[in-house]
Amino acid sequence: MAKIGVLALQGAVGEHMNQIKLLDHEAVEVKTGNDLCGIDGLILPGGESTAIGKLIERNDLLAPIQALAQQGIPMFGTCAGLILLAKKIKGSITPHLCLMDVEVERNSFGRQVDSFEVALAIPSIGDDISAVFIRAPHIVTIGEQVEILATYEERIVLARDGQFLGCSFHPELTDNVRILQYFIGMVNEFSKVPR
Ligand code: GLN
Repeated sequence: MAKIGVLALQGAVGEHMNQIKLLDHEAVEVKTGNDLCGIDGLILPGGESTAIGKLIERNDLLAPIQALAQQGIPMFGTCAGLILLAKKIKGSITPHLCLMDVEVERNSFGRQVDSFEVALAIPSIGDDISAVFIRAPHIVTIGEQVEILATYEERIVLARDGQFLGCSFHPELTDNVRILQYFIGMVNEFSKVPR
């Protein structure tokens, strides 16, 4: 059983917690540095990246999360969470956690009212994966090590950079747990690495 932290400052926290529990893993809400102790993986949920970024700083979580990343702990960002992970944000000089080697563009699929759900075929995960897009970002450029896992309308919407997984959409707002299972696979892989 893995212990997965969910950054619980703003956004779709409960939905991630529920999906983790549904898969019989332990889910922990992360609000302070102490909550990061002993977690095997961290999920950064969707919400509003500017607000979450400010709360990360206010709650003194920036350095502790970056230190955890340094140890190789897998991290999964959904929507705003992807923006938090990215090393570059188009049009902004200040990234947040600055961990995943991608550049993202915010709000690339229209406004809040333009939210939509599609079924994506993701070769390494499965066919018919429901994806909910809500003022979603997309990945504009990727570093050499980054693997593109899914595109939608020729835009990168799911990618992996070693220990980091980032997606534009909200898998936690659907019944489909396949992407979370893929992330738990990354967590299990990492926990087998001798340290
Ligand atoms: N548009 C939001 C942002 O830029 C992300 C939206 C979401 O997480 N659903 O932070």
